[in-house]
Amino acid sequence: MPELPEVEAVARALRPLVKGQRIRCLHVFHAVALKPQMPAETARIVEDRYVRNVFREGKYLFLGLDRGLLEMHFRFDGQLIWFSNAIELLARANAEEGGVHVDVALEFGKGVLGFADPRHFGRVHAWESEQACPPLKKLGMDALAEGFSAKELHARLARSKRPLKEFLLDQTRIAGIGNIYSNEALWHARLNPWRRADSLDRKKSAQLHKAIVYVLRRALECCERPAPDFRDPKWWFQGLEEILRAYQRAGSPCGRCGRPIVRAEQGGRSTYYCKRCQK
Ligand SMILES: [Zn+2]
Repeated sequence: MPELPEVEAVARALRPLVKGQRIRCLHVFHAVALKPQMPAETARIVEDRYVRNVFREGKYLFLGLDRGLLEMHFRFDGQLIWFSNAIELLARANAEEGGVHVDVALEFGKGVLGFADPRHFGRVHAWESEQACPPLKKLGMDALAEGFSAKELHARLARSKRPLKEFLLDQTRIAGIGNIYSNEALWHARLNPWRRADSLDRKKSAQLHKAIVYVLRRALECCERPAPDFRDPKWWFQGLEEILRAYQRAGSPCGRCGRPIVRAEQGGRSTYYCKRCQK
C-alpha cells in the first residue's frame, strides 16, 4: 500500500508529464472509481481545465487545475498508467487480449493518464476548490512538511493518550505514515508501539521526529531509483524491503541487539518490533 514516499515519488514523476497540459476529456470505464461522484459531475469539473500543479498531501495525490482540483487515492494497490494517446488507451483499456485494467483516464493533448485499481478500492474525485475537498480539510500536518518539527510533534503527542503506533497511523494528526513506516520509525526511535503518545518527553519526541523524517526520506530516495514511468501496471518500487528493519521481519534478528523481531496484532493491523530495545 503506497504511503507518503511512494505517492511523493509518483507526484514527482508525473509532474513533467501533465503540468501545463489541458484535460481534453475524461474517459470512464468503471464508474465505481469515482464513487460517490457521478461521471458527469467529475467530467464537468475537470474537462477543458489546465493542470497547474501536481502535489501530494499525506497519501493523496492531487492535480491542481486552473479551477478546482482532482484528487487521487490509491488505497491498497491503485496505479497510474500512461498511454501515448487516446487510440492506445481505447485499444488496450480492459481489452480481452493484451489489455490492461483501467477505471478512468484523463486525455491530454500529449498522452493519456489512466487510473487503475482492479480491486476497486482506489478513488478519483474532482472538487471545485481546495475548500470543498474533504481530505484537505481533515488531514493533519504532512510528515515531510516544513512545519513538521520535533516541537510540533511533541505538542501533538502530548494531546493524545493513544498508543504510539495508532497515533502515527491517524492521518488527522500527522499525514502520510502507514503501517510500514510507522513500524520502521518506532524501531529506529527505540520506542515501544504500545507506549502512550503523551508519555514522551521532549527528548523522546525529538528522537521519534528524527526517526520519522529519516525513514520517509530514505524510502523516498529508494522510490526514485528507478522512478516510476507508469508504463507497466504490474510495476512496483524496487528495493524497499532492503531498507526495512522491522516491518515483515518477524523472526529475523534485530539489527541492534540480535533478539528476533516479533509480530503482534495492534488495532487490527500487524505490528513488528523488538521487545528488548524498543521501550
Ligand atoms: Zn533490538
